[in-house]
Amino acid sequence: MGEAPTGEVTAEAVKARAAELGFDLCGVAAATPFERLGVLREWLDRGYAGEMHYLARNAERRADPRLLLPGARAVVVLGTVYNADRPYSTEVDDPQVALISRYAWGDDYHDVLGERTRALGEWMTATHLEPSRCRMYVDTGPIQEKAFAERAGLGWVGKNTCLIHPELGSWLFLSVVITTLALAADAPGFDQCGSCTLCLDACPTDAFPSPGVLDSTRCLSYLTIETKGALPESMRGALGNHVYGCDICQEVCPYNQHPPVSDDPAWQPREALDRPGLAALWRRSDGELRDAIRGGAMTRVRVRRLRRNVAVALGNSGDAGAARTLADPEAVAAPSDSVRDPLVADHVAWARERLEPAL
Ligand code: SF4
Ligand code: SF4
Repeated sequence: MGEAPTGEVTAEAVKARAAELGFDLCGVAAATPFERLGVLREWLDRGYAGEMHYLARNAERRADPRLLLPGARAVVVLGTVYNADRPYSTEVDDPQVALISRYAWGDDYHDVLGERTRALGEWMTATHLEPSRCRMYVDTGPIQEKAFAERAGLGWVGKNTCLIHPELGSWLFLSVVITTLALAADAPGFDQCGSCTLCLDACPTDAFPSPGVLDSTRCLSYLTIETKGALPESMRGALGNHVYGCDICQEVCPYNQHPPVSDDPAWQPREALDRPGLAALWRRSDGELRDAIRGGAMTRVRVRRLRRNVAVALGNSGDAGAARTLADPEAVAAPSDSVRDPLVADHVAWARERLEPAL
């Protein structure tokens, strides 16, 4: 038997409960459409979503949370700091090190925050005297979390398209509870980028056609994670030593220069993903790679695409040793069928050609 309802759930009570559950930020927005939600349609029409066709499929629902939960009145937005105590990729001055996006070092945030967000939603429903309903999402649902986070006062969506909190920065996971409860809304966040353009200037692939607009098809995060087939040859060099995601436009942001560090065990880097060497990563068997990413966000790419990315990064390393590693069929621990996969083989061939001058 669950706990008996005890009274009215207010926005203050939700925030107190969210803090108890380990969330660093909690704000409330009205569950109605607003201007920023409409920007998605134009962005999709320009083709900036690339292969992420699911975004277009549910674009209508992404424009109005009441289509996700009929009768919805409020969207509770939760922020969780995931930053770990490690240097930024821009400080790792070694092309032999595999760069992995900060958010993917620890446990899969979908699982960890899914549980915590569900616990908050269930508490809200169980505690409120009147019947209410809610739906919870962690990144994968058809809701524009960043836009709602800004509306709920958690910060603002910067020119780098990330949600930035003025004190906590942008190393934040976002999750939401959509509820039929009438909760008092917070004042929205406001733009504090000012005249800064550091993120736009630092992007290695010019992925921002204009401030606050990301052309995913040019972004290393999209290329390394979302692209299922061959990486466009014109972009492979720009990958550098990024094998999963890219953090550059966040690392250079002034609001991320003294960010808080999380002590949550869930976000601490797994040993195998803590700045591994490219060659060492390549030499691992398929099973070892699978073990390294199991339970983490990197399962999104699986072993085959990870190997594709590592091959390209080795090609970009300019290192003769990397060329020899890629040329040696025995270099990868067995069994490793992915090495013979045509997609991987194609990228290995590209990398070896690129490394020829180093030999
Ligand atoms: S993640 Fe990297 S590639 Fe993508 S927009 Fe930011 S700096 Fe550019
Ligand atoms: S780097 Fe500057 S422009 Fe970019 S998000 Fe941060 S404050 Fe805004």
